[in-house]
Amino acid sequence: MVHIKINGLEIEVTEGTSVLKAAEIAGVKVPALCFNEELGHFTSCMLCLVKDAANGRLFPSCSVTTTEGMSVITDDEEIHEARQTGLELLLSEHVGDCEGPCQVACPAHMDIPRMNRLIAAGKFEAALKLVKKDIALPAVLGRICPAPCEGACHRKTVDASVSICLLKRFVGDENNLHPYEPLPLNSKKVAVIGAGPAGLAAAYYLQLNGYQTVLYDKNDVPGGLLRTEIKPEVLPLNILHKEISTILNTGVVFEGGKDIDEIAFKNIKIQYDAVIVATGTLVDEIRNWGFTTNAKGIEANQNSYATSVTGVFAIGNSLRSSRLAVRSVGQGKEVAWSVAQYLSGEVPKGEPRLFNSRFGRLHKEEISEYLKESVPYERVSLADIQSKGYTKEEAIQEAKRCLHCDCRDIENCKLRDLSGKYDANQRRYAADSRKTMTKHFAHSIVYEPLKCIKCGICVRMTSKYQEKYGFSFIGRGFDVVIGVPFNESVETGLAETAEIVAKACPTGALSIKDKL
Ligand code: SF4
Ligand code: SF4
Ligand code: SF4
Repeated sequence: MVHIKINGLEIEVTEGTSVLKAAEIAGVKVPALCFNEELGHFTSCMLCLVKDAANGRLFPSCSVTTTEGMSVITDDEEIHEARQTGLELLLSEHVGDCEGPCQVACPAHMDIPRMNRLIAAGKFEAALKLVKKDIALPAVLGRICPAPCEGACHRKTVDASVSICLLKRFVGDENNLHPYEPLPLNSKKVAVIGAGPAGLAAAYYLQLNGYQTVLYDKNDVPGGLLRTEIKPEVLPLNILHKEISTILNTGVVFEGGKDIDEIAFKNIKIQYDAVIVATGTLVDEIRNWGFTTNAKGIEANQNSYATSVTGVFAIGNSLRSSRLAVRSVGQGKEVAWSVAQYLSGEVPKGEPRLFNSRFGRLHKEEISEYLKESVPYERVSLADIQSKGYTKEEAIQEAKRCLHCDCRDIENCKLRDLSGKYDANQRRYAADSRKTMTKHFAHSIVYEPLKCIKCGICVRMTSKYQEKYGFSFIGRGFDVVIGVPFNESVETGLAETAEIVAKACPTGALSIKDKL
């Protein structure tokens, strides 16, 4: 047995144990991309660097074995910086979008590519469930949103953007289900002042999360500007009622006809554990409620929406006037995160933001690569968009036009996860121009070489499973790439092991294609 210290903690490990494994035994997770439990170490990514406490030297923990009396530090500023630099170098030549550009452009951050895949597969209920995770009022927004997502859509490079807004409307109109059951009520109560799009969305997500929410509004019926400012030909009242009732049916209590003044606001603050102000464009009366304001509206933290008054949050037009209802609806979702964090005793930070690799516009040569997963026909247009909306068949046809610009491995990608944890900047070492990407479809997987970090796991895995061709390092030095030897296709190279290898790849370079 060998006795070592990991961050000062003494442990005993069997002889021959690596420092990486010893750290794990001590309960410390050291990051690694090229290490694979089944294959062992390869020592190429260098993210598992740790420090020898005796001399301050950094070394890769995956390939160094523990020795008697060793003392190791697994994280400090220097180690953090070294890992961050390692990630930034990997990202500097990484060409891929984690999230589709449409999702990035959507103020509510809706997972549009996945919605399109679900619609294309005829899974409308699942599509509604997905959409409602981010957008509390899809049928409403499907009629009034100016669709910034469509402005960012890569399909525009081919012909016209995917008709995302109409697809979302279709999903909202298609069924009346309540896709989420609210959690059982906890002991906390939240007041939301203002039942416009921001307040409705906030109330919805808080109630779903088990907070008894009371929604106050000066009008007798909820809806705010959605009811007063939009013509019924554009947004029919029955659609607005239907969607508002899905929100109220979660258990939200609506208190209409309540014009809240300074005294009433003080009482609300006393009665409730948290308060959200969603009153719309700020009027002078509200400026006296005690929080810091500026010329545009209430001042609030841009991530958490916390105001200068503890326990009071502000969203929507009360921050600054905007005609973009989707922004208000998105803020309603985000503030629910902050309020939940605040009520759990945490510092409110809002919805967690994940790392997002982005590469910008498509090169001309890349269009054909993206079309491999799509259909060539033009946008399914409607003669009378306002009144008709898509039929099931039209919606499926339109959804199939999506190019699936998001990365299929977004939920399992270790590179994305670590880049977020180490706050890596993709641009720091990036060259001015980038390489042109290709997509190779084979069996049930897709291989995107420009997302590869050359960790060698696929090479070692195909060799271990005795693939006839397998994957191999091709070329030398900086120009080395991972591919199939003898110019064989990916199909031939991964004849028996496509899925095994895709699952082992630490990035989305090799991923399973048909993940909805
Ligand atoms: S491989 Fe990872 S980091 Fe790259 S685009 Fe995909 S999810 Fe993002
Ligand atoms: S083609 Fe699809 S995934 Fe790509 S940006 Fe447009 S809607 Fe989003
Ligand atoms: S394709 Fe192979 S070498 Fe590239 S990241 Fe995936 S497993 Fe590693």
